[in-house]
Amino acid sequence: MGKADLHIHTTASDGSCDPVEIIQLASSKSLNTISITDHDTIDGYLAAVDEARKFAIRLIPGVEITAYQNRKEIHILAYDFNPLDISFRNFLTSQRKARLERMERILHYLRSSQGIDLSLDEVKAQARSTNVGRPHLAQILVRKKYVASIAEAFIRYLGSPMLDNIEIEYAGIEHVIEVVDRAAGATVLAHPGAVYNMAETEEYLNFGLDGIECIHPSHSYSEQKQFIELAEKNNLLITGGSDFHGTGREYDPFLGIVTISEQKLNRLQTMTGNRKKLQTEKD
Ligand code: AMP
Ligand code: FE
Ligand code: FE
Ligand code: ZN
Repeated sequence: MGKADLHIHTTASDGSCDPVEIIQLASSKSLNTISITDHDTIDGYLAAVDEARKFAIRLIPGVEITAYQNRKEIHILAYDFNPLDISFRNFLTSQRKARLERMERILHYLRSSQGIDLSLDEVKAQARSTNVGRPHLAQILVRKKYVASIAEAFIRYLGSPMLDNIEIEYAGIEHVIEVVDRAAGATVLAHPGAVYNMAETEEYLNFGLDGIECIHPSHSYSEQKQFIELAEKNNLLITGGSDFHGTGREYDPFLGIVTISEQKLNRLQTMTGNRKKLQTEKD
């Protein structure tokens, strides 16, 4: 039976392995299906397509979209969408613009309130792209010895309540669902156990998300069981993955440390397959 890891980051966002390395690593771990789910970009997915074919690995289109709802950042995984869909691609471009603007505001906060003077160019250099995220800034804070670890960077500077008043322009959940739907993909609430209570989880699901990432390294066994029950009760998809960000991070799990069965993957692909049929009928 096949094993699928549907949550992986690359250098196209805050991961440390490039897309080609990810495919080779997945092959060495006997994963037959993976999804590269970088934050707000599919560049990593696109760069891995040829290598995946060479290694006979099924690569499901994926992305981890940052939504903003009730003054909270919510991660929504989108899967098996049409990667050529223009309005979906434009949507991701606007998300990355929101990311850059947020980073500028964080840098302004560090400069004006903490006396730490860093530039956006430094963060882009650390990211080796314009798709910047807080982990890149955390890496600079460690390198320049403002903090001793990535964890300390998040605790002292990059989390709540320090950044609570920073304006964020990511799309709301409803908007995210709409654009993914139009691209014939499926939406999944990412790693709810780490960040929301049950009431919040249900509130977000009620927007019309298709599934829950029940299987995630941050979930305890009882959390996993609770989310699976919730998904089954509401007839939602169950997904899972390692949330691998590469090596060199303090809390990172291994690629493929959690996986989902072929059966769960089939359910997802049946749903997106039906959406694709509907789209072709409309066109
Ligand atoms: P951003 O994309 O800028 O919102 O940053 C969020 C990312 O930072 C998450 O996807 C994680 O990869 C990472 N992250 C969040 N909290 C921590 C933490 N305490 N330690 C290390 N990495 C973290
Ligand atoms: Fe991340
Ligand atoms: Fe996430
Ligand atoms: Zn992730």
